[in-house]
Amino acid sequence: MKKSLEIGTSSVTPNLSDYEFLKNSFNWDREWQLMNGHAEKTGCNIAYQAIERHANGEIKDQVAIRCIQKDKTSKDFSYLELQNLSSRFANVLINLGIKKGERVFSLTGRIPELYISALGTLKTTAVFCPLYSVFGPEPIFQRLFKGDAKVLITTKILFEKKVKELLARLPSIQFILLTDENRDLDNKVLSLTRLMQAADDTFVIPPTRREDPALLHFTSGTTGMPKGALHVHGAALMHYITGKYVLDLHQGDIFWCTADPGWVTGTSYGILAPLINGVTNIVDEEEFDALRWYSILEEQKVTVWYTAPTAIRRLMRIDFQPTEKYNLEHLRLICSVGEPLHADAVLWGQKTFGFPILDNWWQTETGGIMIANYPSMKVKPGSMGKPLPGVEAAIAEITEHDIRLITEPGQQGHLVLKKGWPSMFCGYLHDEERYKKCFRDNWYLSGDLARKDEDGYFWFVGRADDIIKTSGHMVGPFEVESVLMSHPAVAEAAVIGKPDSMIGELVKAFVVLKTGFPADDKLKLDIIGFARKKSGPAVAPKQLDFVTELPKTKSGKILRRLLKARELGLPEGDLSTLEQT
Ligand code: ATP
Ligand code: MG
Repeated sequence: MKKSLEIGTSSVTPNLSDYEFLKNSFNWDREWQLMNGHAEKTGCNIAYQAIERHANGEIKDQVAIRCIQKDKTSKDFSYLELQNLSSRFANVLINLGIKKGERVFSLTGRIPELYISALGTLKTTAVFCPLYSVFGPEPIFQRLFKGDAKVLITTKILFEKKVKELLARLPSIQFILLTDENRDLDNKVLSLTRLMQAADDTFVIPPTRREDPALLHFTSGTTGMPKGALHVHGAALMHYITGKYVLDLHQGDIFWCTADPGWVTGTSYGILAPLINGVTNIVDEEEFDALRWYSILEEQKVTVWYTAPTAIRRLMRIDFQPTEKYNLEHLRLICSVGEPLHADAVLWGQKTFGFPILDNWWQTETGGIMIANYPSMKVKPGSMGKPLPGVEAAIAEITEHDIRLITEPGQQGHLVLKKGWPSMFCGYLHDEERYKKCFRDNWYLSGDLARKDEDGYFWFVGRADDIIKTSGHMVGPFEVESVLMSHPAVAEAAVIGKPDSMIGELVKAFVVLKTGFPADDKLKLDIIGFARKKSGPAVAPKQLDFVTELPKTKSGKILRRLLKARELGLPEGDLSTLEQT
């Protein structure tokens, strides 16, 4: 087993140096103690762990968040400054009469006010819900309405363009706080700048229990209407241990998570885990741009980078070796989440940066990373890795009322998690029935299918909804897509099942080609033949279309349900999270 990772010429010993040892000796209370030290009751508040603890300690003057603006200039906030600003914001909310559990939404780009208001809201024990600013008015309305928003923090331009027209339909909203306006527009639309100046910069966090709601996150809407998952303050412990053991955060690290806080990854890992672990957190206001991203990695001397397969695939499509143009010697770890990370992407990491990209699996509902590859553990490219120590994951067969764990290695089944990890969601908003249905006995049913091999590694098969039943086989899209992706001409692929009277469903593939390859019948046959040779005729696609883009959610996930609906001429369903290209 590899005991240390090379960073340029120096080396860092991973926090998790022996997976089996930590798994067998893992103790949640001990981890809580390690995070919390001797804190009193306030220790249960996420913002206490993320800010107060550090602002009152040795790293108070260290940069907590560096916000890189569109023009590449940056604004730094030390832990102490962030403490003062988030306390001011907490006082703004209290002065407006906002109470525990009431919901405070944000709709902004990745600007300092987003991070300040998130932490300030958490301090008050109100519930924070960040929305992705590229949503159009209807998706914004759906979420504000469903979430009974009391307060919305936004910018002048977003207010004018997207929110103003919705207000008549949103009676629950009491205040809109504009980040870039010096005057109040009326007694509902107020200047946040003015309120912040008038507010006190000290705030005492009220007693907070681990089970108190803290955050509301909407799912990506990949399989249907987005669900609102509520999370508790106790999740801080999960942010802490996953930051420590999966992202391997060490003092002095410069960490960058590319996700927007409008998705759970961008809050759990784009705000909380790096702060709780006391490192410097990089935030980029701009959207994906390959060269900009490489230049940020270089200029900021990023050591640990957390991104998503969709971005990695876009980087892989560019025919150039980044380390020849950029000095990336500080970078020692890249992790990925959100979709399956195909084996060739893992290996591309090895070839390009000198170490494999480490995949991990989790969901909005889990609040934090559940299954992961760790820097000290052998990587099996294409596998999601092993459950986090302290988390129990299993493969199960599920019937309407029953659950049976499958112990034989290699068998496909439902991926389930033993209830009770600290960041487990505590409800779906206004949908108690659906929440209850997610549990069977002591197990949470993830809705994904997977396999566990003889060494305990988990392999993603597909979402239960996307499984294709063809000629008596259950085919997971991931398996077929992985094979297609390993063809030299294929940049991206998605497969669906199409009803067929003879074989149940036939496998149909949609393929985006790499630049320079002609989208003609010869290449189509070549790719189908390649897939048949690799995975056999039962599993290989019988039909294949070339497309220029695959439909994706705004968080970058392939929308197979939309491909299927379009193919079959069925209603397209909720498109609130569809990325417009
Ligand atoms: P919805 O629940 O609204 O359909 P969603 O499931 O895409 O949307 P998220 O909670 O953002 O919403 O995504 C979690 C899902 O993403 C997982 O259940 C899984 O299907 C997929 N996923 C996340 N990480 C991985 C991974 N490493 N490998 C494979 N799939 C992954
Ligand atoms: Mg889901």
